[in-house]
Amino acid sequence: MATLLAVMNFYPAQAVRRLIVSSKETELLERAQRLALTLEGFASLTQDNIVLSVQVLELEKQQRILVTDGFGGVLYDNSKVSPLAGRYALLPDLVAALEGADVFRCRYDEEAFASSAAVPVMKGEKAIGAVYIYDYDTEQADFLSSTRSNIFRISLLLAVLGCAVLGFFIAYFGKRIDRLVGGIRQMSGGDYNSRIHMNGQDELAELAGEFNELAGRLQKTEELRQQFVSNASHELKTPLASIKLLSDSILQTEGISREAVNEFLGDINEEIDRLTRITERLLQLTRLDYSSAAAASRCDLHKLAGKVTDLLRETALQAQVRLENQVPPGLFALFDQDGLYQVVFNLVENGVKYNKPGGVVTVSAQLVERGDRLPRVRLKVADTGIGVAPEETPHIFERFYRVDKARSREKGGAGLGLAIVADWIKTMGGEIQVESQLGQGSVFTVTLPAAAGKEAP
Ligand code: ADP
Repeated sequence: MATLLAVMNFYPAQAVRRLIVSSKETELLERAQRLALTLEGFASLTQDNIVLSVQVLELEKQQRILVTDGFGGVLYDNSKVSPLAGRYALLPDLVAALEGADVFRCRYDEEAFASSAAVPVMKGEKAIGAVYIYDYDTEQADFLSSTRSNIFRISLLLAVLGCAVLGFFIAYFGKRIDRLVGGIRQMSGGDYNSRIHMNGQDELAELAGEFNELAGRLQKTEELRQQFVSNASHELKTPLASIKLLSDSILQTEGISREAVNEFLGDINEEIDRLTRITERLLQLTRLDYSSAAAASRCDLHKLAGKVTDLLRETALQAQVRLENQVPPGLFALFDQDGLYQVVFNLVENGVKYNKPGGVVTVSAQLVERGDRLPRVRLKVADTGIGVAPEETPHIFERFYRVDKARSREKGGAGLGLAIVADWIKTMGGEIQVESQLGQGSVFTVTLPAAAGKEAP
């Protein structure tokens, strides 16, 4: 700080000083030269001529004026205190002037500028004398020192102001950064509710905004994760509890008959199948969350619907539900093969699950070509089952959502089937709609990008 102030002061003070010295040089040399020139006009250098010239030229009284002859003998001295007239003044500057040079010298101490100028009085090529003017100026020295102290005061003020502004900014940004760090720390401690409130529009406020968005996303993921884990464990608990109960019954019943064991084992087998289905769906669900593996290819809808209905034939038979594949051959969708299989399987399985004995599930499809839009295929899975109430339909695609919890679980449902369907369709750029009437049945309509028919490569 002190160095800074010294540097701030040094250059301006130096410049003012140089200015004063150079103005002194001009002034004194000019005066001395004027006097010398006037004296050169006379035939000889006499005291009278000199006094006359000094008066005519109105040279200031406060400056000391010496005029010497060609040998340094003082002819004129206006000093009242110690006049040198009649003596020799062999000052180095006078000697130099007598040799023909113009000499200026200025010395500055804290109190005054002491400057002198010496010029020769020429007669032809020869110096017949010299004029010496000496000036002792305290006024300019005062001016310089007051300028210096003013500059010092101003620079001190500026430095203090600068420090204050700097301090303010450090405190301001420090506080903001503290707030950011605090928020990050809270989040790394597992508190995803933490948000950073930061006013302003600077980069830090932007950073806080980004952080809040990230925290929001993490919070949502965390909620989903918790929901997923709790629902999944809940779903897994029921069949596991049944298996435990059934195996305990076998182990604890003494002399249990072969038929009873077979019956229990059959039940256990069913529970294991249910477990397998749930875990498969959970696996699919996690895979879908990282859906980058999905790849679109040409899917034969007739074949695909046939495969699904064949696989579900036995289940449908048990539920006394008829399955009908009405998809015409030669219709192709552009979709992930496994994904589309899953979509159709889940929809048809639901159609069977939530049906009534004697009911039907129909799979149909058609090509939709409208104007200049890309062709699409519309696949419908219609059932004559229990239907969904209008207020429930917006929710059935949510994860773990089940309309009739007891009935759905009893049928092996985890509330994941339609969530998987919706995820696949979203991933592959399709749409799904449901029309349903309670007690009458439902129609799920899936619209997908169409792929070219057989003739295309
Ligand atoms: P779940 O595995 O329980 O069947 P889904 O996600 O497949 O879960 O379906 C969510 C809920 O939507 C089901 O619990 C059921 O109540 C209802 N639902 C789905 N499909 C049908 C349908 N075809 N008819 C009636 N209700 C259905």
